[in-house]
Amino acid sequence: MQPIIGNVKIMGEVVSLTSRAGAFFRCPECRRTVKNGVCMVHGEVEPTKDLRIGLRIITRLGEVVLEFSGEKAQKTAGITAEAAHSLSAQELSNYLEKKFVGKKLKAECFSLKDKYLYAREAELLGEGEKNVQTGDSQGAVDKEAVPQNQGGLKQ
Ligand SMILES: [Zn+2]
Repeated sequence: MQPIIGNVKIMGEVVSLTSRAGAFFRCPECRRTVKNGVCMVHGEVEPTKDLRIGLRIITRLGEVVLEFSGEKAQKTAGITAEAAHSLSAQELSNYLEKKFVGKKLKAECFSLKDKYLYAREAELLGEGEKNVQTGDSQGAVDKEAVPQNQGGLKQ
């Protein structure tokens, strides 16, 4: 298998979330990940809420890990960073699993290292071959996956 270097377009089926998928905080100055309100460069900051999507995807290049965050992550996942932070880690993980796992996804990305990609653009294409469903279940799945009383979700 050739190493994946630089810019690459991928398409494949999402098989699972990675452990890095979830709600997190960013430094408002440098956008680095902030833990416990402390940026490694800027010290104590008022961090910004963000959402990271981390997916394992089977592509014709083999299995890759794709990450993205910020607005494109919130848009693709159909949930705002605010709403993502209002869920428990488990609820958010369940929501993201229902949204992504078993679905086809295409993305324009660049590789951070071999088979470890960061998406500039990502688009869900719907059900993968293993998981074809009939009817208009898409909306219903999303509504079930997130408690109705949390508010702030993009519909
Ligand atoms: Zn910073």
